[in-house]
Amino acid sequence: LEERPRSCLLRFRHKLEEDIKPSYLMDHMISDGVMTVDEEEKIRSQPTRKEQAVALLELLLRKDNRAYISFYNALVKETYDDLANLLHDDLPYVLPDAHKSSSDGYTPYVQAMLSEGGVPQRPVVFVSRPELVNRVREKLYRLQKDPGWVTVFGMAGSGKSILAAEAVRHQGLIEECFPGGIHWLSIGQLDKPDLLVKIQSLCFRLEQSLDSQSLHRPPNSLDEAKERLRFLMLRRYPRALLILDDIWDSTVLKTFDIHCRILLTTRNRSLTDSVSGAKYEVEVESGLDENKALEILALYTDTKLHGLPEEARSIVRECKGSPLVVSLIGALLKEKPNRWRYYLSQLQQKQFKRIRKSSSYDYDALDQAMAASIEVLPEDHQELYKDFTVLEQDIKVPAKVLSVLWDLEPEEVEDILEEFVNKSLLFVDSHNKPYLYYLHDLQLDFLVEQNRTQLESLHTKVVHQYQQHYRDGPPISGDEECLYWIRFLTYHMAKANLCQELYSLMFSLDWVSIKSKIMGPAHLINDYVEYGPILDKENSEVRSQFQEFLSLNGHQLEQRPFPDVVQLALSQPHTSEVYRQALLQAQDRASRG
Ligand code: ADP
Repeated sequence: LEERPRSCLLRFRHKLEEDIKPSYLMDHMISDGVMTVDEEEKIRSQPTRKEQAVALLELLLRKDNRAYISFYNALVKETYDDLANLLHDDLPYVLPDAHKSSSDGYTPYVQAMLSEGGVPQRPVVFVSRPELVNRVREKLYRLQKDPGWVTVFGMAGSGKSILAAEAVRHQGLIEECFPGGIHWLSIGQLDKPDLLVKIQSLCFRLEQSLDSQSLHRPPNSLDEAKERLRFLMLRRYPRALLILDDIWDSTVLKTFDIHCRILLTTRNRSLTDSVSGAKYEVEVESGLDENKALEILALYTDTKLHGLPEEARSIVRECKGSPLVVSLIGALLKEKPNRWRYYLSQLQQKQFKRIRKSSSYDYDALDQAMAASIEVLPEDHQELYKDFTVLEQDIKVPAKVLSVLWDLEPEEVEDILEEFVNKSLLFVDSHNKPYLYYLHDLQLDFLVEQNRTQLESLHTKVVHQYQQHYRDGPPISGDEECLYWIRFLTYHMAKANLCQELYSLMFSLDWVSIKSKIMGPAHLINDYVEYGPILDKENSEVRSQFQEFLSLNGHQLEQRPFPDVVQLALSQPHTSEVYRQALLQAQDRASRG
């Protein structure tokens, strides 16, 4: 939402909350495609009208200009004229029929225009993502007056190409912004000669449709190709849109830096940094809503949504709604409809190689799609990326942990992490300060699969780096980094098979004291249970003495101010290791006065 409409909503929020009936307004907003059925349900589940209104405004503030306009229109339609007037002056400028739903705009004219430009058709199995499509269209409208770049970015298989093609399937948009036509170019990973061939054939296509007489010799260097294209776009096809699908390399983009209108899809958010002109971007979230993903499975298997077997939901959950994975599996099920359980277990066992390509997707299998993203990193960064293999699922880490792990300056770490994020290899939670970084489940699974034989040494590296950095004792600041080490150090030791390290840590009253002070006793007790079998190999009596101490004193260790652990430990039986260590510490204290 732009600043003006946003501030207008905030200003009149309370008045709106008092008066509107959300259920009526939301119907309009859904049919405008600015709100999903899920969002509506969430709002409807609020008990009172007032609470629904509050929730609706909350949602609206997070949405874009079109949602504001749609809300305004809904107020007019429901004859809340006074309220509509309040919002009227701050209506953002968007062309009147710019955002009719896609079915309105998908006419024979559009079909002809797009097929001439080589824009791929809708796949047979297709689900709409109205909000995303509208977001891309809105950015494309910014190219109406001036040239510029719209970047659609997101991770492998998130549906970028399909989204780009869908966004231009709209008559109003083409007529108003790109009457010169829409031209699709699949790029992918290619070298210079291949790129030259692609541009040659684009030029040929563009020249041919002008007049069949003129027979130009094809440009025979990239520079020449760039000039030819510049001339064609400027003189013969002003106000046309080029769609560059799947760009990996900014040098490729530079060839198209010719002051024209471009929509590109990529996993690498920062590609347009090196070119000139206005730039806009849309991020494609990696997963579909559960219902959309189920819809894909239903369409492939020719089933009704509610007729899907229970495995369907698990498949969607397992891959977090990844459009690529869901459709790969859908296509397999179409052939072998009684293999729901089998494919689910393949997915659970990370047997990505068996989930083979089905249709138009360029990668043979999911793992290749993932590997491709990693392979374009510089070699030393590939090595660093590998270290993410040791993270636990769904755990987010601050940059400082990686700075210890990689033994690099925090600034350098930030740059590297930014690169990973920009290439859709890593996600960042920027609501948290410091930022926290994490992997998509599929990426983590892939890494674990790929580095299966090196798990032990990767965990060992973590432990050794930690020990190197914290020679003088564990961190106790309580910040995000400290929390990570205190919580996961034992986990890394166990996975690294560093039993000696694990014993000396867990059979130490100091560690017990630090960990329970920072995290409370529950995590600690859990450690003794989880690593019990390993600890018992060294000394099962000591293990149970520590565990007993914790279960007896758990409630005390939750108190703040934090109790004196040495005092608590002194009340243990005199045969206990816990007592022995406490006694030593007490004597040490006494001797120091
Ligand atoms: P990306 O360009 O992000 O790598 P694609 O757009 O090529 O991803 O989509 C990958 C695959 O996911 C497609 O081949 C298709 O099977 C499936 N897919 C993506 N978006 C949709 C959608 N809206 N409806 C149905 N299937 C989709």
